[in-house]
Amino acid sequence: MPEAQAPTPRRTNWTNLLFFTLTPLASLVLVPLHIRMNGFSWGLLAFFLACFALSNLSITCGYHRYFAHRSYEVHPFVRWLYIIIGSGAFQGSALAWATDHRRHHREVDTDADPYSINKGFWYAHLGWILLHEDPKHSHLRCPDLEKDRWILWQHKHYPWIATFVGFLLPGLAAWAIGLGFWAGVIFGGALRIVASNHSTFLINSACHYFGRRPYTDSNTARDSFIMAILTFGEGYHNFHHMFQADYRNGVRWYHWDPTKWWIRSLSLVGLASKLKRVSKEDILKAKLQMEEKFLIAKGASSEYVAALKLKVVEAQARARHLREEAKRLKAQMRTSLQGSAAVAKITQLKADYRKATEDFQTAYAAWLAYQRAFQHARIR
Ligand SMILES: [Zn+2]
Ligand SMILES: [Zn+2]
Repeated sequence: MPEAQAPTPRRTNWTNLLFFTLTPLASLVLVPLHIRMNGFSWGLLAFFLACFALSNLSITCGYHRYFAHRSYEVHPFVRWLYIIIGSGAFQGSALAWATDHRRHHREVDTDADPYSINKGFWYAHLGWILLHEDPKHSHLRCPDLEKDRWILWQHKHYPWIATFVGFLLPGLAAWAIGLGFWAGVIFGGALRIVASNHSTFLINSACHYFGRRPYTDSNTARDSFIMAILTFGEGYHNFHHMFQADYRNGVRWYHWDPTKWWIRSLSLVGLASKLKRVSKEDILKAKLQMEEKFLIAKGASSEYVAALKLKVVEAQARARHLREEAKRLKAQMRTSLQGSAAVAKITQLKADYRKATEDFQTAYAAWLAYQRAFQHARIR
């Protein structure tokens, strides 16, 4: 039998090593020096925060939820802005970023995952970027993105575009509003790049390390409110790995997810469309599955838990069926079915739907009450 070949060790990427060492060092020296020489101003802080938000949103809304996941459609001008502003984040071209990210989802936690948490926290955070890619993964595999000429243009000229957008543009913008060119380069360039990069890198490291797993335990991704704050909403990472096509990561309206709010706002003004959402039923099904596992592990009777769960699922399915039936009939009424009989049927369906919703709420309340008895340990 032929001997298994040892994997070729990956070479250090000196350009990246230098960049990710020099930008924090430069920030550490130049930020206090600039403040000492020119003083602090709220305008400068606001400028930094604006650059930080723009840079991060172009990655989370653009690179991540649009280019990597295609979780919504966007106006060509916004797509172009994502490419241009995203370049300044110094996280590589959208094509390379999306290729790595799609592989991360496909191969999560395995050896082929480009930033597998199983290779260590620091490897997932930054270490993987400091090494050249394994040649066996170096060919590009995003045929849908490779059709876009702006994506190809950005990929081809990436270092120049990134330098212009990442350093020169903030310098020129700060100069134009009276803060000074170097203030722009230091605060809107170097410091913003460091903050922006580590905010994104936390998704690959901390979001696979800290928090809860309410939807799936088939991978290491976790949900954490603190991480959501630090990552512009990407911290609901367990939900995201379970339902990657959904444009939301924080699925409840109150979940901190500025990325989702930005996409929703774009859609309200007609600049985004076809926002993909997973159904409430599918989300609840995944959650119940995890909670069932937890209850059984805590010693609950599996038959009792299964029966309780079935009641919730069936009640929800009935409510959904009635809601869709009422919708269908209403649409039909507009075209053909008319008269008092149809109106009476719709009224009856609505009443049945209200009753089914109440049944669902009762069943779900019973499920939650049963869970409270086991609350001394949380799902991890
Ligand atoms: Zn992940
Ligand atoms: Zn993703």
